[in-house]
Amino acid sequence: MRALRMVGFGREPELVEIPDPTPGPGEVVIKVGGAGACHSDLHILYELDASGMWRLPMTLGHETAGWVHAVGPGVEGPTEGTPVAVYGAWGCGRCPRCAVGMENYCERPSMTGGGGLGLDGGMADYLLVPHQRHLVPLPAGLDPVTAAPLTDAGLTPYHAIRRSWPKLTPDATCVLIGVGGLGHIGVQIARATTAAQVIAVDVKPEALELARKVGAHHVVPSNDTAAEVIRELTDGRGADVVIDFVGASATLQLARSVARIMADVTIVGIGGGEVPLSFFSQPYEVSIATTYWGSRPELVELLALAARGEVSTERTLYSLDDAARAYRDLRDGTVTGRAVVVP
Ligand SMILES: [Zn+2]
Ligand SMILES: [Zn+2]
Repeated sequence: MRALRMVGFGREPELVEIPDPTPGPGEVVIKVGGAGACHSDLHILYELDASGMWRLPMTLGHETAGWVHAVGPGVEGPTEGTPVAVYGAWGCGRCPRCAVGMENYCERPSMTGGGGLGLDGGMADYLLVPHQRHLVPLPAGLDPVTAAPLTDAGLTPYHAIRRSWPKLTPDATCVLIGVGGLGHIGVQIARATTAAQVIAVDVKPEALELARKVGAHHVVPSNDTAAEVIRELTDGRGADVVIDFVGASATLQLARSVARIMADVTIVGIGGGEVPLSFFSQPYEVSIATTYWGSRPELVELLALAARGEVSTERTLYSLDDAARAYRDLRDGTVTGRAVVVP
């Protein structure tokens, strides 16, 4: 089969022929229908050298959906041809976090990984999934190409917003910074699951246009006056929830400066920024948290929401033969919405 593989740190991924995977006991092979290209793959390829930890070459792609192709001995359940989304965070399956479906927060780091995150991922004709618990059958009305980006670009903002639901009352404001692959889905999730005012912030005019199109109540250019504008839009109070999908120093500073007393500030983007922290650097009882991905039950909820048409993904499709270009375009910042590779 064809596979787009990471061959070394700092090198462009390469499309190669490798043997088709065969499922061992408890394992399932998926025929890939869609595989999303994530910005964090660029970190893996060019910024954070994990090649010492991981065996290379490794097939990229941690955002996958498709159809059950073959099941190994002992697997009961999904029959061949069943459309499924792959829950991408593969933990130990037995620790307290894994037991409640939060394998993204598995407490045994040595056993944590995923396809495209240490093991072979979904940018290929077939994907070997080590356990059937990682598969979520697609609800009627959702196809694998549509579902693939929801497993990360959708699930990550879904979790970040869901954890702050109690604060997102009708009189509250949710500020989302960065309207890229995750942010534009985040806007729709905030609109579909809360009654809060939604404000989207980005540097690019076309991103702000997308935010407006998918339902943001207000869009604010990310510049020196952004904090002031957001204060005005909230009658001076600030935002109850701020989610930073960028994580650069400038966006972290903006996130904190528009937080209302008792707000949640959630950092999702791994932009590597820093801001100094002191007692006086934010209003009282502001909680600052990072989040990573989401849980399997949350993926089930999100897929149901998407199947009802409440969430859609702006996407640019690439063939598998052209998958390396998806990452080049992502690096150049020229992808609209999410880049999805369709074998
Ligand atoms: Zn990702
Ligand atoms: Zn675990």
